[in-house]
Amino acid sequence: MESRGYAVLKAKEPLQPFTFARRELRPNDVAFDISYAGICHSDIHQAREEWGPAIFPMVPGHEIVGVVTAIGSSASKFAVGDRIGVGVFIDSCRTCANCLSGQQQYCENGMTGTYNGYERDGVTVAQGGYSNNFVIDQDYAVKIPGNLDFSGVAPLLCAGITLYSPLRHWGAGPGKKVGIIGLGGLGHMGVKFAAAMGAEVTVFSHSASKEADAKRMGAAHFVVTKDPKVFAEQAESFDLILNTVSAELDIDQYLGLLKLNGTLVVIGLPGKPYAVPAFTLLRLRRSLAGSMIGGMPEIQEMLEFCSEKNIVSDVEVIKADYINAAYERTVASDVKYRFVIDAGTF
Ligand code: NAP
Ligand code: ZN
Ligand code: ZN
Repeated sequence: MESRGYAVLKAKEPLQPFTFARRELRPNDVAFDISYAGICHSDIHQAREEWGPAIFPMVPGHEIVGVVTAIGSSASKFAVGDRIGVGVFIDSCRTCANCLSGQQQYCENGMTGTYNGYERDGVTVAQGGYSNNFVIDQDYAVKIPGNLDFSGVAPLLCAGITLYSPLRHWGAGPGKKVGIIGLGGLGHMGVKFAAAMGAEVTVFSHSASKEADAKRMGAAHFVVTKDPKVFAEQAESFDLILNTVSAELDIDQYLGLLKLNGTLVVIGLPGKPYAVPAFTLLRLRRSLAGSMIGGMPEIQEMLEFCSEKNIVSDVEVIKADYINAAYERTVASDVKYRFVIDAGTF
């Protein structure tokens, strides 16, 4: 199947129009026309090889929604015309304990990423969602509730689930003080979800201009981190803090904000290690943890939660020829709060 999209041909180069082939339908596959694809900061990290060597040409994109156009001979989960979504992985081993418990993102044999990796045959390079169509095994795609704005749904497939999963795992809810560091694509979903779950939400941001938006999304408090005295003012008061910052950060300052048994979850992936003093962790029995996206059942659960609470991402819909400018603006923290590509423009 021919596909038209945008690709990075060499690390750090701008994206450009690119035509490539996708596989013909296997029995358990569905094909769909992509409607929207979100731009995640992980796309930028990989296009620029900030996490190490990558595979080129690379068609990024792992926040994908579209409309089903064909179904394989034994596929029955979707019908032609259904709204469908695909996130950060397209396959996994399906047999390990983590796959069997629906936590495919933690597959013991490694999940198959949506792009910048090989499919399970070990030779086919997977290509992502900055394109006009897609083919996926139905077990790795989700159904999109009918009441949600479609462009705003695309970012839920990565940014949304990546914040929903740790908020659920660490029990965000009434009586809990939750901090979100960074109000970007991931962070703004964290604010919406944590507020909808009933937690008291504080945003830690290095952009003072985002305060009104953070409060509109449900934050009770907004702290500008440029002034170091805020860390003393907020010390030892949080149950849970989620760090979504894409750049390096003094993690010790934020660990100091946790109260007894509090947890700081690393979500942002700057590429370099954090420096963590043992004393800060020992004092108040604090935990430093990590969390990666979410599994297939939890993505579907999150979409039902969004449908019930009417939650989508705040998006700026762009044309394909604006992708490179959108990358620059994202890196400059000038995103409100997710760029989403209209796939009709590829
Ligand atoms: P994004 O939209 O660019 O948001 C990142 C935010 O971090 C910015 O909006 C900004 O918020 C803050 N920030 C950026 N540079 C900063 C700096 N130098 N100092 C302090 N704060 C800074 O990125 P995203 O798409 O949300 O992704 C965030 C990170 O999560 C990326 O590293 C991405 O690769 C990673 N990620 C992880 C997972 C996972 O499964 N764990 C999944 C997806 C993405 P303020 O302006 O409010 O300060
Ligand atoms: Zn992502
Ligand atoms: Zn597995």
